[in-house]
Amino acid sequence: MALDSKIPQGPLADKWTNHKNKINLVNPANKRLIDIIVVGTGLAGGSAAATLAELGYNVKAFCFQDSPRRAHSIAAQGGINAAKNYQGDGDSTYRLFYDTVKGGDYRSRESNVHRLAEVSTNIIDQCVAQGVPFARDYGGLLDNRSFGGVLVSRTFYAKGQTGQQLLLGAYSAMNRQIGRGKIKMHTRHEMLDVVIVDGKARGIIARNLVTGEIERHSAHAVVLGTGGYGNAFYLSTYAMGSNVTAAWKAHKRGAYFANPCYTQIHPTCIPVSGDHQSKLTLMSESLRNDGRIWVPKHKKDVEAIRDGSLKPTQLAEEDRDYYLERRYPAFGNLVPRDVASRAAKERCDAGYGVNKTGEAVYLDFASAFMRYGKEQAHVKGLDEDDDALVRKLGQEIVKNKYGNLFQMYEKIVDQNPYETPMMIYPAVHYTMGGVWVDYNLMTTVPGLYCIGEANFSDHGANRLGASALMQGLADGYFVLPYTIGDYLADDIRTGPISIESKEFVEAENSATEIIDKLVNNNGTHSVDYFHKKLGKIMWNKCGMARNEKDLKEAITEIAELREEFWNDVKIPGKADEYNEELAKAGRVADFLELGELFAKDALVREESAGGHFRDEYQTPEGEAMRRKEFQFVSAWEYKGEPKDAVLHKEELVYENIEVKERSYK
Ligand SMILES: Cc1cc2nc3c(=O)[nH]c(=O)nc-3n(C[C@H](O)[C@H](O)[C@H](O)COP(=O)(O)OP(=O)(O)OC[C@H]3O[C@@H](n4cnc5c(N)ncnc54)[C@H](O)[C@@H]3O)c2cc1C
Repeated sequence: MALDSKIPQGPLADKWTNHKNKINLVNPANKRLIDIIVVGTGLAGGSAAATLAELGYNVKAFCFQDSPRRAHSIAAQGGINAAKNYQGDGDSTYRLFYDTVKGGDYRSRESNVHRLAEVSTNIIDQCVAQGVPFARDYGGLLDNRSFGGVLVSRTFYAKGQTGQQLLLGAYSAMNRQIGRGKIKMHTRHEMLDVVIVDGKARGIIARNLVTGEIERHSAHAVVLGTGGYGNAFYLSTYAMGSNVTAAWKAHKRGAYFANPCYTQIHPTCIPVSGDHQSKLTLMSESLRNDGRIWVPKHKKDVEAIRDGSLKPTQLAEEDRDYYLERRYPAFGNLVPRDVASRAAKERCDAGYGVNKTGEAVYLDFASAFMRYGKEQAHVKGLDEDDDALVRKLGQEIVKNKYGNLFQMYEKIVDQNPYETPMMIYPAVHYTMGGVWVDYNLMTTVPGLYCIGEANFSDHGANRLGASALMQGLADGYFVLPYTIGDYLADDIRTGPISIESKEFVEAENSATEIIDKLVNNNGTHSVDYFHKKLGKIMWNKCGMARNEKDLKEAITEIAELREEFWNDVKIPGKADEYNEELAKAGRVADFLELGELFAKDALVREESAGGHFRDEYQTPEGEAMRRKEFQFVSAWEYKGEPKDAVLHKEELVYENIEVKERSYK
């Protein structure tokens, strides 16, 4: 099937407005005749479900947690971008568009990113109206901070809990509709398949995770807002339950999967501490506004720090290497995540890592304490030369900005970050790849939409911080509610979709077959055993830097591991009961397929771009080397096995932005 991204004609800045003016509408009375399934009630799915119901559609919403409030979105700490230019520092829709395309290493669609920048401002108004308590400045106006890869302050935040506050906003909007009966909420339900009738998505198969019952649900259209797949790496900053199952099952039913190898590795995470760990913790990027990243300049100091004979606070300024400030003076500690992550890896690989395993760098707030403290002392008429006082005053300011993050660090690492620099190391954090969608957010299956992190989205090869929340809420509040009407306008006379058709029976049987196979397998190893092994292959061979040899090995090893999994996995308990291990097994089975496609995609992409770094394609300074021949989205079609997947290319055209070297120097 040829890919048609359905990008509207006309000047970039007018495309979205013109498109909205021309697409079909469904009148209010007819909306009542139409059912929409929304799978996932994180920020993307939650905002979509609430808005669609508010418009009058009958929404059936699904999530696997016991409440939409527990979606992975709740973990988002740092903030959400919008081109409001409240700081008067030169921001604009164009600049947000430009920064995002450049940040994504010129691997995203111009038209989508421009639309994202346009609607970004509406999101803030919407959320403020819902009562989201964004941080405010001294005068009571909304405050902003900076994130990597940009030279303006456009990030709106709610302390270190932005995702939580935004999710409570979307959740309350949903709840209003649940109360009105316009949303039927199915918590603790896991979608296991999508049902295609006459070429159109008409429903899903879901498992009630409490009773184990397999259920059929029908609708006129299906929307997936099921999040990202970074847990394929086992260790990541994702919530433990985040998975690829819904997206992968859609892929197997005909939805192309785009850019699976694009993964964001976040530079600011708490380093791995041992083999028994199941989760990594993010320290928000917002900390790079005030924290300075460094390692010792000399190996002897590294060794002394590692053996405990030297404290980092004792090391003189001239013996520290603030390597981001040294290499990237213009952006300094606020370079994009891929650049900061690779720079940390480079220093650690060169032997300068500061923890026992040599995989950590410092994030130090000492300068910020003094800078803020001096200002406070000045404002309060206190002694600016009293270092102890100044430091204390500065710590108070930092505490107000990032207090919960400092507390979290202390609880996990058992070190006080007000007294000693934090230790950080890159970790898997976000997946830019996902289900391919056109401009209307529709997949290659008619009537099947995909929004939020689950789609291949607007971020190209690298996501800048604070742009995932923006994209999820743009999709859910402001894009999908328009574009889905264009498709549904043809369905106003269709009537309810039966769940008795042969397609529903076939999809249910196929889901049941997989479950039966898993529970009756009676092997010898737990699900985690296989998941950890997969994670190690992914991290070592498809991680921060990739090369042909490793990727080829990864493809073979993942295929072998998948076979071993199906022969030897052991699932205790039964299918018709609450069985967390069974649910996990289904998710890992899908990761084991996705992982292979991931490696295959990375192998085919013979260039370095954003979150995809190939050892073979780098500049003499070790920076990513893009190649014009790869200026495309890779969209994979399922053909039975990951190894047989067929590559389709969506060429990316840049008419409004000059594609240049991506420099942050
Ligand atoms: C620690 C951390 C901090 C972050 N901080 C920021 C930040 O400051 N700013 C920013 O922009 N981004 C941030 N991000 C990224 C951002 O939080 C996510 O990309 C975004 O929240 C994803 O939202 P979503 O709605 O697409 O998916 P999710 O929030 O992951 O929601 C997925 C939903 O799908 C449901 N689901 C999944 N599979 C199934 C299935 N098979 N059946 C039924 N339901 C299913 C889940 O139950 C859930 O409701 C952060 C990410 C992490 C990990």
